Amino acid sequence: MKSIFISLFTLLALTACSSPPSHPPATDGPVSAHGQLRVQGNKIVGTNGQPVCLAGVSYGWSQWEARRFYNAEVVDWLKQDWKCNIIRAALGIRPEGYLGHPAADKARVCKVIDAAIAADLYVIIDWHDHFANEHTDLAVAFFQEMARKYGNDPHVMYEIFNEPSKGLNWAGDVKPYAEKVIAAIRAIDPDNLIIVGTANWSQDVDIAAADPIKADNIAYTLHFYAGTHKQYLRDKAVVAMNQGLALFVTEWGTCNADGAGAVDVESTREWMTFMRKWDLSHCNWGIYDKAETAPILLPRASSHGGWTEKDLTPSGRLAREWIRGW
Ligand code: MG
Repeated sequence: MKSIFISLFTLLALTACSSPPSHPPATDGPVSAHGQLRVQGNKIVGTNGQPVCLAGVSYGWSQWEARRFYNAEVVDWLKQDWKCNIIRAALGIRPEGYLGHPAADKARVCKVIDAAIAADLYVIIDWHDHFANEHTDLAVAFFQEMARKYGNDPHVMYEIFNEPSKGLNWAGDVKPYAEKVIAAIRAIDPDNLIIVGTANWSQDVDIAAADPIKADNIAYTLHFYAGTHKQYLRDKAVVAMNQGLALFVTEWGTCNADGAGAVDVESTREWMTFMRKWDLSHCNWGIYDKAETAPILLPRASSHGGWTEKDLTPSGRLAREWIRGW
């Protein structure tokens, strides 16, 4: 009886304490090398003023086929085996996700952010939404919380509107939303990089360039899917960069924009050459195991990393090759 009482008491005491991290944070990663990123002209640079060009992967929507991979072991594996220096955590703004289950989806995303910080990787907190302009108050509250929690942390970037849906326009929908969320973040965190979505599924960077947001350390999202998007989208990106915009490819795929179709090896190569030339950082979409082309993983893949070639899709194998070699 006595021993049971002691055990329960010990358990309660341990639960009441916040558990210390099992390892000290790593210092062998890109954040220790480059420090906090900032925008300088049309480039994203590190503390020494030199352009920083990162390569990594994005998690899929936090509520669906990606959710089992939202853990520290996967982040560590992506650092160790894929040589990722950036990870993107995608808070799914859907009734099945953050809208319906805010605590669970936020906890999942925070687990990945904390793991990336511990691993010395950059991490994007992505408001993964096609209609964020309909959720402005929710986004403001979320990013205020994130800014309080992570605003002093050089690893963290905020991506405030993944892909505005077709039909939403820059001047009337996306920009006013972005200005509100940026003001809320900046009231708490004056300097971490904020990445702003652009109209037409984050493709119309040239339109944003003609009417940019007046704030510091703002980059703009450019998304491409190699099977669908070709030279015309790179031309739009060049127009935007030549007008002074810093771009960030927070999401790209090897296949068609709907996640299906064939892996387009040659178009992927053209995009990689382009991103290298312009120092564009990028995250492949994505970490999940749905039966379509875009995901990097097959359903047989472990939820905790340690993947072999047999666990990866053809898209995953191609993405890993590019990221490892970056
Ligand atoms: Mg800060």
